[in-house]
Amino acid sequence: MKTAIDTQLPQFQNDIADVVRLFYGEGAAVTPQEPHDASLVHTHRLDGSQWCEAFTLTVGDERLSMDMRADAVTDAGLEEKRQLKRLVKRCCYQLLKRYTGRTPAWGSLTGIRPTRLYYQQLERGKSRGEARTALHELFDLSEEKLDLLDEIITAQSGWVHRPQSACDLYVGIPFCTTRCAYCSFSSGEIGDGRLVEPYLAALMHEIDLCSELAQETGLQIRVGYVGGGTPSSLTTAQLDRLLTHIERRFGPLDEFTVEAGRPDTLDEEKLSMLRAHPVTRISINPQTMNDETLRAIGRAHTAQQTIDTYYLARKLGFDDINMDVIAALPGEDLDMFARTLRIVGELAPDSLTVHTLAIKRSSRLHEQGYTQSERDVAQMVQMGREAAHALGMRAYYLYRQKYMAENLENVGYARPDRICRYNIDNMEETTSVLALGAGGISKCVMRQEEKILRAPNIANIEQYIVRVDEMVARKREAFAVKARSLNGGEKA
Ligand code: SF4
Repeated sequence: MKTAIDTQLPQFQNDIADVVRLFYGEGAAVTPQEPHDASLVHTHRLDGSQWCEAFTLTVGDERLSMDMRADAVTDAGLEEKRQLKRLVKRCCYQLLKRYTGRTPAWGSLTGIRPTRLYYQQLERGKSRGEARTALHELFDLSEEKLDLLDEIITAQSGWVHRPQSACDLYVGIPFCTTRCAYCSFSSGEIGDGRLVEPYLAALMHEIDLCSELAQETGLQIRVGYVGGGTPSSLTTAQLDRLLTHIERRFGPLDEFTVEAGRPDTLDEEKLSMLRAHPVTRISINPQTMNDETLRAIGRAHTAQQTIDTYYLARKLGFDDINMDVIAALPGEDLDMFARTLRIVGELAPDSLTVHTLAIKRSSRLHEQGYTQSERDVAQMVQMGREAAHALGMRAYYLYRQKYMAENLENVGYARPDRICRYNIDNMEETTSVLALGAGGISKCVMRQEEKILRAPNIANIEQYIVRVDEMVARKREAFAVKARSLNGGEKA
């Protein structure tokens, strides 16, 4: 279905398109000029102190309209924009819900972090029950998703509001051995390894400068995460050198995750080296336990390799292992996904992340013209949830992305004593992050001002290598603002 959109508020065109995609998937056109199957016309006016929105949907000879009114907020600021956007989206959503007879599980919500909205309700003094009611009324959220949010809020209690001086460390390794078909990250294939040594030199320089920055501004770094890419695509000696450098500069951390995502990058020597460092958590990601799918999506390992690597890591003493799986991979049906979950269940990792496939614009799947078909994705996601519960885990963080199958979500589950604080901080954005390496985005969280200063590192690896000092300068600027804002210049 191609839907043309004509709106009097062009600043909300993308938001309206997001709502259309909730019902029609990725085929929603957003320009009136294109040939289309349906057209959506939106008008907006101010009637006294009220905003009046009207949407008309025309499909062939059929025409359906929806009006909605709300008291206008006229502070000419962010709140006005937020409320107006919400009203426009709700009106469009109600019209399409009536036309299609469908109710998306996340209702009209299109954002990445639904937990935020729950926290906002609680911060207004509402009880859990009142917050649920408000979210249902405002966004038409289903009971099932409200239960999921409830579970996450419970799991996060005690973790989300850490001291202002708390700051996480993220170190990015943007290399992988091969590129997965669904990957949209800026990571490059490691190829002949030509860029690795210059990259590590630049990264260690950034580590040096950022440890000084942390000391000067009083940042307390207790949580670290080495991600990517695939950090374990480095050689044992390279990764050993990097971890030694991090420890020298930041000391042993309370929580320190190294993504060892691809089983084909791990052997006994590399895992033993990781064990010799104060690494507290690793991830070994099957994505699927079906070899034909692994081949189709370009992962150069088998299911058996995942299993063998997992047992090897256990034998070496790793007691906090995460596994990632993906629902709705190309060619997979319910039985195949159930098989993956059964094998993962037998392995009994400490945490499990259940992703829903997203076809990002920069992925090979998208380039190949692959589109999501209507499948049993919601059922797969529910099966993932049940499998995690059966392992004694509870949901503790969640995020949604554009272009996900059926607009569902990615959920991190963990046993209560194996929650990864970094994942919570990263999703809830209540704790600052110093992000080092190509593509890292540092976040300086200023809670009192209710704002987050972001300092992105350039994603291009070659550019990062030559411009690393500039990346640190960006962080210095952001964290200096935070330091000044706290009690007239006290340390952050
Ligand atoms: S392992 Fe992860 S980062 Fe690397 S290509 Fe696959 S999806 Fe992308």
